Amino acid sequence: MNNSIEILDEEISKDKFKESLLNRNKEWIKKKNGSSSINGSLRAVVLGCIDSRVPIEKIFQAKPGELLVLKNAGNIITSDILRSILVAIYELNAKFIVIMGHTECGMAILDNEKEIIHLKKKLGENLLKTLEKIGNKDPLDWFGFFN
Ligand SMILES: [Zn+2]
Repeated sequence: MNNSIEILDEEISKDKFKESLLNRNKEWIKKKNGSSSINGSLRAVVLGCIDSRVPIEKIFQAKPGELLVLKNAGNIITSDILRSILVAIYELNAKFIVIMGHTECGMAILDNEKEIIHLKKKLGENLLKTLEKIGNKDPLDWFGFFN
């Protein structure tokens, strides 16, 4: 593997995708050194966006084991994120909490009503009804669901 950006073909098979991930993992294992044996040794938990252009560990030059990293779309504190932060504080001894936003976040489009209508159409009625059944919020309330 080289350092160039790899863009997988849309038609890639599940097996090819799995092989690609396994090869990347083998490379990572070879390079892995300096890992901390303590989970979260920097005593910090960072909440970031799922945007792949924001690699939190790389941005802070953290080695494996140093940072406790949480991610979701828009780096939003949800009940599950809160649960993980509490585990980080009370079980992993985190002392610092960083909520890290970024420029050009895709979640910012949800401030635009036209985009919300477009997203609703993409999801379709069946998925919206399913989300309503399994979620504790009304998925049609997009601001509530995504925030
Ligand atoms: Zn984002």
